[in-house]
Amino acid sequence: MRFDYDPENIFAKILRGEIPNKTVLETEHTLAFEDIRPQAPVHVLVIPKGAYVSQDHFARDATDAEILDFNRTVAKLCETIGVEEGFRTISNARGHGVQEVPHFHMHILGGRPLGRMLAPA
Ligand code: AMP
Repeated sequence: MRFDYDPENIFAKILRGEIPNKTVLETEHTLAFEDIRPQAPVHVLVIPKGAYVSQDHFARDATDAEILDFNRTVAKLCETIGVEEGFRTISNARGHGVQEVPHFHMHILGGRPLGRMLAPA
């Protein structure tokens, strides 16, 4: 699979400091910030700082250090953002996944019961 990264996507602009964000946690390779349209009391987005389009792109091409840092950041977030009672991670990819922003991101949602995984088709 070929992944073409668009450097004008909104999360790339956030990473370049061109538009603001509400940062929750930042590390060497990873940024976590509040979703602008939260769908639960806790709704945090976790993104790598590298130019990866989607989770499969990141998992295939990122360095070990980037992948480790991303996952450890998710763990730190889950200890600190108020999801002790449970949470859901979602990573939408491409058309069938209804991905709006073409920079890999993981949603962490929680703070209330989240219902079943998917609405019935
Ligand atoms: P998706 O690509 O469908 O997984 O979702 C993209 C997510 O990015 C949505 O939940 C949006 O609310 C969120 N979003 C879009 N623009 C911003 C922004 N400037 N700051 C924070 N979150 C954003």
